[in-house]
Amino acid sequence: MKTCAVVGINWGDEGKGRMVDLLTEQYDIVIRYQGGGNAGHTVINEKGKFALHLLPSGIFREGVVNILGNGVAVDPDNLWKEIQYVAAEGVAVTPDNLKISDRASLLMPWHRDLDALEEARLADKQYGSTKQGIAPFYSDKYQKKTLMAGELFHPEKLRAHLQDILEWKNLILTKVYGAQPYTMEMLEDWIRDCCEPIKPYVCDTHAYLQQAQQQDKSILFEAQLGALRDLDYGIYPYTTSSNTLAAYAPIGSGMPSVSLSETVGVVKAYSTCVGEGPFVCEMFGEEADRLREAGAEYGAKTGRPRRVGPIDLVATRYGVELQNATCLAITKLDVLGYMQQIPVCTRYLAGGKEIDHFPFPSELGGAEPVIEWMQGWNCDISGVRRWEDLPEEARAYIEFIEGQTGCRVKYLSVGPERDSIIIR
Ligand code: GDP
Repeated sequence: MKTCAVVGINWGDEGKGRMVDLLTEQYDIVIRYQGGGNAGHTVINEKGKFALHLLPSGIFREGVVNILGNGVAVDPDNLWKEIQYVAAEGVAVTPDNLKISDRASLLMPWHRDLDALEEARLADKQYGSTKQGIAPFYSDKYQKKTLMAGELFHPEKLRAHLQDILEWKNLILTKVYGAQPYTMEMLEDWIRDCCEPIKPYVCDTHAYLQQAQQQDKSILFEAQLGALRDLDYGIYPYTTSSNTLAAYAPIGSGMPSVSLSETVGVVKAYSTCVGEGPFVCEMFGEEADRLREAGAEYGAKTGRPRRVGPIDLVATRYGVELQNATCLAITKLDVLGYMQQIPVCTRYLAGGKEIDHFPFPSELGGAEPVIEWMQGWNCDISGVRRWEDLPEEARAYIEFIEGQTGCRVKYLSVGPERDSIIIR
């Protein structure tokens, strides 16, 4: 069975959405396996320009079945709005092309409140949460204090379960944060207005995927965020609250016994990072503004300006190793066209020594980038579609990344549109 994971190598926003949109042509099923509506995958194709948050990026391809796996934080409210948003643009979303795992847990209305309350309590020590309720959701999932989507089919038991969770959550809301409690009526409204509309999509996706396995269907796993945001291996506590790594894809998807035949690691031609936390190669001032403008680096979900810097090969080597990437997709190469000389971070200076491995999170704050300069190509490459037509300097830049990471670059994107791609 052909399986492929499309994953981020760095801090997220690498352009995974456009790579999934491109590659779905070769796959029968696309599965999101972790994360929630805090994702912002931008996809531009013949149907228009879309910012997807929860829906898998395969939703635009006819005949592709899209699955939200058990590892995803399913926010019924936002998912229903997103289904309506793409449907209004002429994209059909039906129980045939969208399936939600009955084992996926539901993000409850109070999770967003709790995110905002906790960020307010932290004041100047905030984590930079997107306030979509993701951290409170995953904490509750592991405390076994939320609902699974399949419970919607068992209304008599659902009510008692909701009552238990409500009692416990109100203690936290009122006693810890001094916030207003929820009532059972509020939860009943939420079930009726937000959960009932998505119920037709909920099914036993594990059984569906077992059958797909027997039929030798091809499967694409779509990650949210990047390796450095992985809860266990990333820049904790400035990570997300789930496992973004390819190794988790089979588990979060509902087919734990499957292995990956290919892993496409997506890397941007330079670095960006949203929110707080250590970002060793960060650029400031005019240099940063120029790169941010050239790459239109503003968050798809929040509109926040992204922090920018040169490509960080220390972090990228670590990401490639964590993801066990079999090839790389370098995105947004066109953006560097204005630079005479291109900065590249190859090592860090940490504790008075030059190092080439990614250090423990607590050591990142004191680390500085060691920058090397490469010759820029200084022209517009957005119309190029063949490797041999790229300027020599652009090819040298890509080959340098390959040499430093030990991973082959198979895809190069030179514009946001589906066909602005070079395949080697
Ligand atoms: P994702 O979350 O990893 O899918 O990444 P995002 O969608 O947040 O960020 C990628 C952004 O870059 C989107 O606005 C894309 O339209 C845009 N983009 C992707 N590839 C290219 C490219 O090759 N060139 C340019 N100029 N923009 C691109």
